[in-house]
Amino acid sequence: MADVTPKPRPKPFSIPRQPMPEQPPMVRVKNFKEVPYGLTPDLAILEATRCIQCKNPQCVPGCPVSVQIPEFIDLVAKGKFVEAARKIKETNALPAVCGRVCPQEEQCELPCVLGKKGEPVAIGRLERFVADFERVTGNVEIPQVASPTGKRVAVVGAGPAGLTVAGDLVQMGHDVTIFEALHKPGGVLMYGIPEFRLPKEIVQAEVEYIVKLGAKLECNAVIGKSITIDELLAEEGFDAVFIGTGAGLPYFMNIPGENLIGVYSANEYLTRANLMKAYAFPEADTPLTKSKHVAVVGGGNVAMDAARTAMRMGAEKVYVVYRRSKKEMPARIEEIHHAEEEGIEFHLLTNPVAFHGNDEAWVTEVECLKMELGEPDASGRRRPVPVKGSEFRLPVDTVIMSIGNGANPLVPSTTPGLNTNKWGNILADQETGKTSKKGVFAGGDIVIGAATVILAMGAGRKAAAAINEYLKTGAW
Ligand SMILES: Cc1cc2nc3c(=O)[nH]c(=O)nc-3n(C[C@H](O)[C@H](O)[C@H](O)COP(=O)(O)OP(=O)(O)OC[C@H]3O[C@@H](n4cnc5c(N)ncnc54)[C@H](O)[C@@H]3O)c2cc1C
Ligand code: SF4
Repeated sequence: MADVTPKPRPKPFSIPRQPMPEQPPMVRVKNFKEVPYGLTPDLAILEATRCIQCKNPQCVPGCPVSVQIPEFIDLVAKGKFVEAARKIKETNALPAVCGRVCPQEEQCELPCVLGKKGEPVAIGRLERFVADFERVTGNVEIPQVASPTGKRVAVVGAGPAGLTVAGDLVQMGHDVTIFEALHKPGGVLMYGIPEFRLPKEIVQAEVEYIVKLGAKLECNAVIGKSITIDELLAEEGFDAVFIGTGAGLPYFMNIPGENLIGVYSANEYLTRANLMKAYAFPEADTPLTKSKHVAVVGGGNVAMDAARTAMRMGAEKVYVVYRRSKKEMPARIEEIHHAEEEGIEFHLLTNPVAFHGNDEAWVTEVECLKMELGEPDASGRRRPVPVKGSEFRLPVDTVIMSIGNGANPLVPSTTPGLNTNKWGNILADQETGKTSKKGVFAGGDIVIGAATVILAMGAGRKAAAAINEYLKTGAW
């Protein structure tokens, strides 16, 4: 399919922000297909004509990887969709992913000048549209990479941080091998974020792009178990290592009953559903409990994903139990809105204090306490304070703990000289990714704690530039 010829441009301020068509809530809760259908070419052109091509565009500094937003949007407005996708790819190797999961409302769209008086340009929807257009029309082109430098880099972890480092370094001519512990690459994009929000064929296609650029990929390779970082450097001939092992260690509340059967970490629940495709059991090998009443504890994107997955797995009732109010929920507004539309019940200002079970040790109830908001805490959000005598119980057969994840400890604990902070995050320079160990760089969630895809990619870009410099000069 060729790019589309645009009609004459209407006046930008007269056009409302274009909504993205999506599956109706009562239909989509019965399937795992992606919720939005995406913009059509006509809608994309119309949305792109809203951009007034600011001389000093505030949207660009809002993007952690500095996508040239007005330039790509101008190409969309002219119907040059493939060129627009290539413009984005100059600085972002995973546009179809970022167009779907980035919190644009807090990043590039927040400072958009159109948002001052009305609604910002839908930058994320346009990014998603052009990336999809390029892929489905078979127009993905593999750019020429620099001539081989003879330098070898090991990348540990195939999440967004590791993939970005690998994509950038192969283009600079280095020989890159990615080591991934799981049997599939993609990190959280593959095992955490559900199919209905980020189809796995898209993650697969974006990983394949990086492999086609020349990166080598070894799955089922648990660094720190099968081989250490020191061995990669001293025995396997790698000149530098990047660690992007993420924050995959689930936190629990340490309250009574948390080890009852039916109490999952969101990581386990979502990995079973996404990576192991438990929704297709028995065709897929991995099962997941058939639940009737599910309580999801937490208020972030992970909690929304777990709750919406439980709904699609056939639960009759799904509760989100969150200790602060809706205003403080860290989940994206769009995710909360979608969860509400799908019938998920929110128990806000509510905190679990214990889980109760039956004689066979299956969870049967969550005991909760109502909360009220007190003074702001260190995070600036108002601290939840228990309301005396407000205990009540929710009958459940499944609980999914989604209260956050910590650093994966395996690599730091098997790498002498690699310094971490008290939470186990690797200490690395924010601008270069340099760690306390010569030749070893780190970035993404393993450094800053559980954050976002684009921040992991931004850290990957900076680390790739610093690794390139180190390989050229040897200076540390
Ligand atoms: C359910 C869920 C939903 C989310 N939703 C969003 C969202 O909507 N938008 C957003 O921007 N962010 C979201 N996030 C956060 C985002 O996915 C992460 O911030 C991002 O993936 C971090 O990237 P990373 O590369 O640092 O780590 P990861 O994506 O965690 O990747 C790390 C990789 O390293 C591998 N690994 C770990 N240890 C080893 C080892 N010893 N050897 C080899 N490989 C190893 C892991 O298997 C994994 O593949 C979500 C997170 C979760 C869990
Ligand atoms: S700030 Fe908004 S209107 Fe201005 S260039 Fe960026 S997207 Fe376009």
